[in-house]
Amino acid sequence: MRRGAITRAAVLKTIAEYDQLGRSKFLARYGFSEARSYNLLHEGREYDSKAVAGVAHKWDHGRALLPKEFSGGKDHAAAWLKRAGFEIKAVKNPDWARDEIIMACHLVMANGWKGLNASDRRVIELSGLLQLMPIHAETDRNEKFRNPNGVARKTFDIATRHPDYPGKPTNGGALDAEVLHEFLARPAEMAEVAQLVRHGITAGDLQTLPLDDDENLDYSAPEGRLLMSRHKRRERNKDLRKKKIAAVLKQGGALACEACGFDFEEVYGDRGSGYIECHHVVPLHEAGEGRTKLSDLALICANCHRMIHRRAPWPTPKELGNLIENRRGAVARIPSQPSAEAAEPATGPL
Ligand SMILES: [Zn+2]
Ligand SMILES: [Zn+2]
Repeated sequence: MRRGAITRAAVLKTIAEYDQLGRSKFLARYGFSEARSYNLLHEGREYDSKAVAGVAHKWDHGRALLPKEFSGGKDHAAAWLKRAGFEIKAVKNPDWARDEIIMACHLVMANGWKGLNASDRRVIELSGLLQLMPIHAETDRNEKFRNPNGVARKTFDIATRHPDYPGKPTNGGALDAEVLHEFLARPAEMAEVAQLVRHGITAGDLQTLPLDDDENLDYSAPEGRLLMSRHKRRERNKDLRKKKIAAVLKQGGALACEACGFDFEEVYGDRGSGYIECHHVVPLHEAGEGRTKLSDLALICANCHRMIHRRAPWPTPKELGNLIENRRGAVARIPSQPSAEAAEPATGPL
């Protein structure tokens, strides 16, 4: 049978069976457990999406799918049901991301490190802002997503993690505590970050930012994903890169990495001619919505660029250059030791 090829009629028959048996009997009959990711919404009632999608196969293909026949991806069943014209909703809202916690923490700080109530207008305003942030996909949210109650609860989770709070922390995760301690260590900088995100969302600039999960794997910044993505978008701006390269060449400079001196043309010949990456040197919490100036960009090779972004805090190209110099100095002192000889690349035939 072709998995996922289910019709609306089959789903409706399955829903009827579900209603007749009741939830626990229905799930037990077909060996499914309660849905953890998505529910199917039909005529005001909720159904376990995976079980319904699996059992619907019975009508279209002669037998129900077993739970283990759902290969990977938590949203397969949801996608099939949506294709058949049904409404899907997330069972549970996603965990708070760093960007969101930064916004909540900023509010708690402004309130003298005390939690705020759901009726507080600042909580209501923040709730609206969080709902506009492009961090979580619409399909992963349900109707309670970052509502004033949830936001108020988060402010108490953060406030009760403050070192001066006399009682026990209410709840919340390790990330709450991490962000809180960043605020305590660098209050001005973190407040600046929160302001930038707020302006970016209100102005729409950060609202439409595509967030690519894969590409963020090698990137780390305490300022959160939104500002980091804007930073990357600036660096990738082709026109800007062209202008920077032209300006450097016009001044008689070479297209060499400002950290390690690597020159693509020197190593790769024609293939590398004219190639270099640009790194935006202005710290995330200082780079506002304004235009990027050519002096904000540094020429950097692909390796050094990766190494700068790999871990926060990001070194400047000069700092990374010093690190490379120090390493080179250390390596240069090693050759007298026998272990370094063994590390020489093999020169024999392959
Ligand atoms: Zn380099
Ligand atoms: Zn960069």
